[in-house]
Amino acid sequence: MALSRIIEEALNRHINEEFYSSYLYLSMSAYCESLDLPGFAHWLRVQSQEEYAHAMNLYDFVHAREGRVTLHPINQPTLEFQSVLDVMQSTLAHEREVSQLINRLYELAIQQGDYPTQVHLQVFITEQVEEEKAAGDIVAKLKMIGDSSSDLLLLDRELSNRGVAAGMPPPSAGPFPG
Ligand code: MG
Repeated sequence: MALSRIIEEALNRHINEEFYSSYLYLSMSAYCESLDLPGFAHWLRVQSQEEYAHAMNLYDFVHAREGRVTLHPINQPTLEFQSVLDVMQSTLAHEREVSQLINRLYELAIQQGDYPTQVHLQVFITEQVEEEKAAGDIVAKLKMIGDSSSDLLLLDRELSNRGVAAGMPPPSAGPFPG
């Protein structure tokens, strides 16, 4: 079943949102580099790569459904932040917005009777629960740390361990990796 025009357009808009997310997290990563927090910079860089993978997952899905991908301009991401806490609170707020966008996309797929898109988006819905939790956990830790630079350096070291392979499987790979 080929994509309807409405779903095709909505998926193309969402591909742009995922590329924007990737760009936003890269901007946050650059800011953390400037703070000499390489662990946070690494975590956000991996986050950026995951968002790129989300965009490409939908890119492949559109083509698999005989649709046409159209790439739109990517907005300028936020450049300046107040602190690393501001960065992580902005990450959490952004992930909550993305969750809303994916939920609306899913609702549209239901309205359009597009079952393959509904099934495909379920991985994204599950992923958003993880994304919100991961950002929320770091915000909570930063609040506990407060002004302690030694504790901040410990958290920075912890975040430097984030694996690169986590996240969305390619569309052909089936369910989640371990
Ligand atoms: Mg994403």
